[in-house]
Amino acid sequence: MTHIKQDDLIESIAESLQYISYYHPIDHIQALNRAYQAEKSPAARDAIEQILINSRMCALGQRPLCQDTGIVNVFIKIGMAVNWDTDTAIDEIINKGVRLAYQNSDNPLRASVVTDPAGRRKNTGDNTPAVIYSEIVKGDKVQVTVAAKGGGSENKAQLAMLNPSDDIVEWVLDKISTMGAGWCPPGILGLGIGGTSEKAMLLAKQSLMAPIDIQVLKQMGAKTKLDALRLEIFEKVNAMGIGAQGLGGLTTVLDVKILDYPTHATSKPVALIPNCAATRHISFELNGDGPAQFDPPDLRHWPNIAWKANPESIRVDLDSLSKDDISKWKSGDTLLLSGTLLTGRDAAHKRIVDLIANKKPLPDGLDFNNRLIYYVGPVNPVQGEAVGPAGPTTATRMDKFTNVMLEKTGLLGMIGKAERGPETIALIKKHSSIYMIATGGAAYLISKAIKSARVIAFPELGMEAIYEFKVIDMPVTVAVDSKGNSIHTTGPAKWRGEIIKIAINQIKKS
Ligand code: SF4
Repeated sequence: MTHIKQDDLIESIAESLQYISYYHPIDHIQALNRAYQAEKSPAARDAIEQILINSRMCALGQRPLCQDTGIVNVFIKIGMAVNWDTDTAIDEIINKGVRLAYQNSDNPLRASVVTDPAGRRKNTGDNTPAVIYSEIVKGDKVQVTVAAKGGGSENKAQLAMLNPSDDIVEWVLDKISTMGAGWCPPGILGLGIGGTSEKAMLLAKQSLMAPIDIQVLKQMGAKTKLDALRLEIFEKVNAMGIGAQGLGGLTTVLDVKILDYPTHATSKPVALIPNCAATRHISFELNGDGPAQFDPPDLRHWPNIAWKANPESIRVDLDSLSKDDISKWKSGDTLLLSGTLLTGRDAAHKRIVDLIANKKPLPDGLDFNNRLIYYVGPVNPVQGEAVGPAGPTTATRMDKFTNVMLEKTGLLGMIGKAERGPETIALIKKHSSIYMIATGGAAYLISKAIKSARVIAFPELGMEAIYEFKVIDMPVTVAVDSKGNSIHTTGPAKWRGEIIKIAINQIKKS
């Protein structure tokens, strides 16, 4: 029998969550760097560069890779020959570790978990509870895998109960074409095939915990049907030209992972879950010798690149911005923003729209006239920071509020990540507005452009409160210009064509 102390599990969970909040897995960095070196699309290359630089800064500064520090997923396998020094339930022990990690004063992580999801959606304040899967297995050890899954990529999860004769690749390509860029590609696709509906989802999530090895598989060649499926999906998804952040480019996925399980003769459940630019997971084992140890990675694995603004970027003074300025910018232009920005995301938008619908005034001091709004929920700052990591959140969720915001508040434009829906693009055109994107997964880098931050409305919403940021040279790209041109349409279309040309050239050369 192995005797495990509950404190060892609590400490190991807390340490592992802190560790993955600022250290990308090395295999992820190597795959991202490979994509960076190969990328020919300037916009996608710039986005990957920002993600890599952000990653190194986080590793050095021990601050979160992304403002969304995730919902905690824990897979725990407990050996049958293990006993504990406690009668506390495993879930409770794990959640103590989660609480400690997210409330660490040296590196506070953002609490994103809400209770009553169909109703009041109240933040629990410490990111508990984790989503926990436990198994009793043979042996005398406790094996744990911990992941912090960002909402942007989790929200793109897909499940289908296909017919046995249906084509899995066709289904995956169809889903990818509708998923947009809210999952912050380039990332990893996890597929679960078989079992039942919930088993397929679980397999898809578990598959994402394995190291990236598609390049090795390419060299060795497929030995199984699943190997061949991985390679086929990898090639075909990348050939879609979606690229980093959906800007159009050569790499959309760094790997495709698949796990399968026997299923009913009439069924073919297939689940798809993407992992994003902020891929965060780690595994450890407890064998009775105390808490797990997490050694810092060798930083030489990170490319030592410094971010330089595009010399052609347009410098923008946000404090004297007008519709006239905005009308000159084109989809794909890069801008450096300086001056005052307002922030807001789902909950704040709902409040504003409700106030306007009820003919009530906005809170004192909240004035959107001639301002841009940045969709962000930052991490709390530590000493010396104006704000913690503060990257963009998925703009599509704000689409339903955009009409009122543009029509009734005097707002000039918006900054977020990923594409906007067709109706919102039409509204942007109608109001001669603008939508810009910052790089999802570059939150710490972006936060360095924010020189001061103060809450100006709805403080009770926590990270969803409205802040006023003073920024200097904050890098953004025009995604939808005032004429309604969207880079998320034109970029991938262009790079799909470029990828075909590259393939034809390669065939001619060989
Ligand atoms: S990288 Fe993108 S999807 Fe991932 S946690 Fe950050 S914002 Fe969310």
